[in-house]
Amino acid sequence: MIDAGISCRETEKRMERLGLSMQTVKAIFISHEHTDHISGLAALAKKYQLPVYISVGTHFYSGIQIEASLIQPLLPYKPVMVGELTVTAFPKLHDAAEPYSFIVNNSKVKVGVITDIGKPCEHVIRNFKECNAAFLEANYDEEMLEQGGYPRHLKNRISGGKGHLSNAQALLLFRMHRAPHLSHLLLSHLSKNNNHPQLVEDLFKQYAGNTTIAVAGRYKETPVYCVNDTSGIVVKPVIKVVKPRPEQLSLF
Ligand SMILES: [Zn+2]
Ligand SMILES: [Zn+2]
Repeated sequence: MIDAGISCRETEKRMERLGLSMQTVKAIFISHEHTDHISGLAALAKKYQLPVYISVGTHFYSGIQIEASLIQPLLPYKPVMVGELTVTAFPKLHDAAEPYSFIVNNSKVKVGVITDIGKPCEHVIRNFKECNAAFLEANYDEEMLEQGGYPRHLKNRISGGKGHLSNAQALLLFRMHRAPHLSHLLLSHLSKNNNHPQLVEDLFKQYAGNTTIAVAGRYKETPVYCVNDTSGIVVKPVIKVVKPRPEQLSLF
C-alpha cells in the first residue's frame, strides 16, 4: 500500500467493496508527511502490524506514533522487496521534508506512483518513461486556480515548483515521455476546488492513443485495473487501486 490518507475503517470498507482483503497488504510505503497521505497510517499499521517504509525526514515531521519495530528505512533508489514486488522510492520536488515518488515492479511490469510534484524533474521523467502504468497527479486546471478564490500565497504555493502538477504539466509529461508500452494512465490527486474529473478525462482522452485513461475519484474507490507486460495485452491483475481521495493507492 502506498500512502494511507483515509481512516482505517474507510480503507477497510473500500477494500471490501473491491473484493480485496486487508490480509493481502504486506507493507505501507509513505511518500511524505502531509496529512492527506498519513491520516490513517497509525491505525492501519497497528491493527494489521504492517511494516511502514518511511524516510527519516518524513517520519520526524509527520509526528506519527507507530511502534518502533514496525518502522523500516526508506532511501532513494534503494529497492525494497515485498513478496514478488519491488518498490523503489525516488526523489521529487514538493514542499515536504524528504518526499518520494515510487516505482513498483515485478519481473514484467513497472508501475509509477507519482503525485505531489511541483514539476517533472529528471527523476520523474526518467522513471515515467519506463512505466507500463502510471498513477500520475493532475492536480489543477491553471485557469480554475487563477480565477478561483484561493489567496494569492496559496495559489503561488500550488503552482510553484514545489507544489502540485497542473493538468497541462501532466499532459505534457504524458505526451512527451510516455513509453510505447504505457497501457494505463490513472490521473490522480485532483484538487476539489481547482479541477474537475470530466475536464481531466476529456483533456487526456484526446491524446490517449493505446493508453487507457482513468481518473481516480476523490470520494470512493477506483475500480481495479489489470496491467500486463510490454505487449500491452491485459491478462492478469497487478495493480489494484483504492482511491477515496486522490492520495491513496494500494498495489498488489
Ligand atoms: Zn503533499
Ligand atoms: Zn497530497
